[in-house]
Formats: sequence, structure tokens, C-alpha cells
Amino acid sequence: MNGSTAATPVEPCDFTVFGGTGDLALRKLLPALYLRDRDGQLPDGFRIVGVSRAEADDEGYRVMVEAALVEHVPSDELDATVVRRLLGRLHHVTLDVEDVADWHRLHERLKDGAASDDVIRVFYLAVAPALFGPICDHLDQFGLATERSRVVLEKPVGTDLATARAVNEAVGRVFDESHIFRIDHYLGKESVQNLLVTRFANTFLEPLWNSHWVDHVQITVSESLGVGERGSYYDRSGALRDMVQNHLLQLLCLVAMEPPTYVDRETVRDEKLKVLQALRPMTPDLVDRDTVAGQYAAGLCDGAAAPSYADEVGHTSDTETFVAIKTEVQNWRWAGVPFYLRTGKRMSERLSEIVVVFKEPPHPMFPHSEGTSEANRLHIRVQPDEGMRLHMTAKEPGPGGIRLRPVSLDLSYATAFGQRSPDAYERLLMDVVRGNTTLFMRRDEVEAAWTWVAPILERWSEPTHRPRRYPAGTHGPFAANTLLERDGRSWQETGIE
Ligand code: NAD
Repeated sequence: MNGSTAATPVEPCDFTVFGGTGDLALRKLLPALYLRDRDGQLPDGFRIVGVSRAEADDEGYRVMVEAALVEHVPSDELDATVVRRLLGRLHHVTLDVEDVADWHRLHERLKDGAASDDVIRVFYLAVAPALFGPICDHLDQFGLATERSRVVLEKPVGTDLATARAVNEAVGRVFDESHIFRIDHYLGKESVQNLLVTRFANTFLEPLWNSHWVDHVQITVSESLGVGERGSYYDRSGALRDMVQNHLLQLLCLVAMEPPTYVDRETVRDEKLKVLQALRPMTPDLVDRDTVAGQYAAGLCDGAAAPSYADEVGHTSDTETFVAIKTEVQNWRWAGVPFYLRTGKRMSERLSEIVVVFKEPPHPMFPHSEGTSEANRLHIRVQPDEGMRLHMTAKEPGPGGIRLRPVSLDLSYATAFGQRSPDAYERLLMDVVRGNTTLFMRRDEVEAAWTWVAPILERWSEPTHRPRRYPAGTHGPFAANTLLERDGRSWQETGIE
């Protein structure tokens, strides 16, 4: 049983993927489209056009995509009939997007047959951001950017505020903001969406969700893998740009945002923007005090010897593969509550988790008790094994006095709902076709995030700044522990164990 869910079909669409033979397309986008097709969500007339520099015709592209599906879709989800149906939707256009002479090929493909300008066109830009502007200009020039067209921008949208603005300007000259989908796949994860539902469709949490009752918040996104094949990209980026500016700040926004009047595309994004604007601005002194950059040295990861970052990229480098930051949301609700963010590669485990740590009870009511009592904590597990766990203190059963013991209330998505959690891309790609921008980053959000990150980038670019080394397979540099220990706190290393 594959746990498929019935899904309302979307409208017919021409779904064009620039970079259609690339890693992202073959590993994530096409498997996601396959699974939506398998669940009955792609109607007849839904075409997928891969655009790349590869010299492949439709047939050659289908062979390539079929191999990718076999590799990247779990075998119990693969259905030969659906694979054939999906392959039948595929076309390939060989095109160097920078060469205007090639563009007539895409124009002919999208304007052929029954296709009219009334069809929804999605242009997914799974290529380097430097190509976003030229692609949009050519889409405009060839009359392919219509009222019903949408463009999807993969990260990174810029490498700093100035380049992000330049990308946004270039794309914005052709597409209205309501037709621009800046993807952050974290926002498509079930547990992340459930965070909004948990906060706003229940009553018990909201009265506690503030500085009166919350001691601090931790957000960890750790990976056990190194940079692998992405070394040349990563070495120019680093963890701050690659993870903090987008994924971690987006998670922080969802934890900290005020309840909108109702959950809708602009209301949620308005509230997230207010959080970004309320983050305590970083100064050089605060960067020195409240941030830690690290880089992995050789070590043991997942039970095997792991090389250092320098060995993986082939040269010495000051690029950070680990970041820890303490910040604060300076508003009425959160004043004085630290938010600790942490992300890194080659850490002890792959884990994305938000932990809301509540304050200790105001008065010790069981002075003669034995055992241990801990502050309440809500763990929201984003990956793997999506779920939630509320840690509380209970009385251990038995006669003769009171013995306190930490216990937990668990919600595992897999167990509670008994079905596969769709991959974030499945949800997000269908939202693009439907024109629903709620789970995508608006221009002002992206630029506010870069504005906040800018002083850290600047301080870290000074020659005296060096990331601290940490052995692969650990929790990061020691200084990241000190960041919390000096506040009398510690990282929650084992969330949902
Ligand atoms: P890739 O190198 O595997 O593939 C690049 C694709 O773009 C290929 O299909 C190539 O033919 C095409 N391409 C490159 N230049 C072109 C041109 N001038 N004209 C037409 N086609 C051209 O790259 P990737 O890993 O798929 O990543 C693509 C983009 O998405 C990058 O900007 C990357 O940072 C971003 N991204 C990738 C991932 C991932 O998991 N791979 C995740 C997030 C973001």
C-alpha cells in the first residue's frame, strides 16, 4: 500500500523546467510531479517541458527521466502505468537560455498544438540565479509571459541584499509579484504547515506562547552529510547564506509571528515580514558575542571516517559549514526571549527541529519529592519522522511518596495519520499551478532577511575572522555550547528519541 491520498486535479498546464536535466529536476521536481500524477492530480493536457543545454530529444529525455524516477521514487510507490503516463507528458527543448537564437524552439513548443495563451504556464527556474533575469526577458520578448504565467525561483535569490534586489528587479520587470514564487521547500513540509495549525486552530497554546511562559526557543537544522558534489557552489555560499538566511529564518518567523486575521496568502506573509523586521539588528559587537561560525575537520560520521571540509573541496577555505546564532524578536510578545539558531553539515545526525522551552513552574510544590522535574518543552520535528512531542513531568506510579519523572506526549505523523507525508515539493508545485503564493517568500521578506544577515556577513568577511573547527560527527564547535551555557541553558541534543 503506498498511502496515496485523493487529490483534486489542478488545471491543465504547461510546466516548463529550466535546468530540466539537472540534479534538482531529476532528483526532486520530476519525482514530485510523478507522485502527484499517481495521486490523480495531473489532468490530461498537463505537459512538462524540460529545457536544458543537453542535446536530447523528447525520447532521450524520457529515458533519462525514467531512470531518475526509478532511482529517486521509493519502489513501492512506482506504478508502471503512471510512469508511462508521466513520460507521455514529457518534452525536451535544447536551448542555451543566453542565446536568443535558440529561443524560437521553446516558443514553437509552447505555442504548438491546442496550446493557447489561455493555458497556465509555469516556468520553474532550476538554474543559476544569474540566468533568472535573462530568462524572464526572453519569456517576455517571445510573448510567453502572459497573465496566466507564473515563475518559480529556486534559492539562492541573491548572495546578499544588493544581488537579491538585482534579481528581484530583473524578474519583477516581467512578472507581477503575485506571479513570482520564491520557493523555500521547508515551508512545504507537513510539520511546518502543521505548526501554523497547531498554533492557530487550538486554544491551549496561544496564552502560553509569549515571554511570560516561554524561556527560549531553539531551532536546529543539522545534516550528517558533507558538501559532497556541491563543493564549488557551497564554498562561495556557506551555511549562513545557504541555510540561515532562508530556511532557519522562515522557521523562526512561523514560530514567532502574530496570528493573522485569517490564514491567507498575504496575511501570513505580512506577519512573517513583521517578525523579520523585529529581529534585533546585528552590530559588530553582537556578531562577535552572539554568533559562532564553524567548519568541520576530519572525524567519524555515521560510523565511517569522514574527511575534513578542506579535503572535500580540495583547498583550505574560510567558508563556514556551521552557524549558531542567538537573537531576539524585539516586540511585545517576545521581548527578552532568546531564539537560538543552529545549523551545520557533518554533524552527529540529520535533524530539523524546533524546540520551545517553557519556564520552570514558579514555585516548587513537591519539596520532598524524589526524581527529576524538567521545564516543559515542545519539540516540533520537521525531519526525519515528522511529529511533535510535549515533554512534561508526571508522578511515577507507585506507593510511598512522590517520585517525579519526565514523560512525553507524542504525535507521530506516520502513526497518527497512517499515510505517507508528501514531499514538500509535491505540495509546493501544485500550489504554483493553483496560483497560491502563501507558502512562498515575498520579495520584501527575502530582502528583510538579507538586511538582517548583512552585518554578520560583513563582520565574518574580515580577515581576522576564521570559522572554528569541529570534528565531523559532533554537535559543532564548543563555542556553540558556550553561547547557551553563559545564559544557563543548553542545546536539546536528543529531541524525539
Ligand atoms: P545542475 O548543474 O545539476 O543542473 C543545471 C541544469 O541547468 C542543467 O540541466 C543544465 O543543462 C541547465 N543549464 C545550465 N546553464 C544553462 C543555460 N545557459 N541554458 C539552458 N540550460 C542551462 O544544477 P542543479 O543542482 O540542478 O541546481 C540548479 C539550481 O538550483 C542552482 O542554482 C542550485 O543552486 C539550485 N538548487 C539546487 C538544489 C539541489 O538540490 N540540486 C537545491 C536547491 C537549489
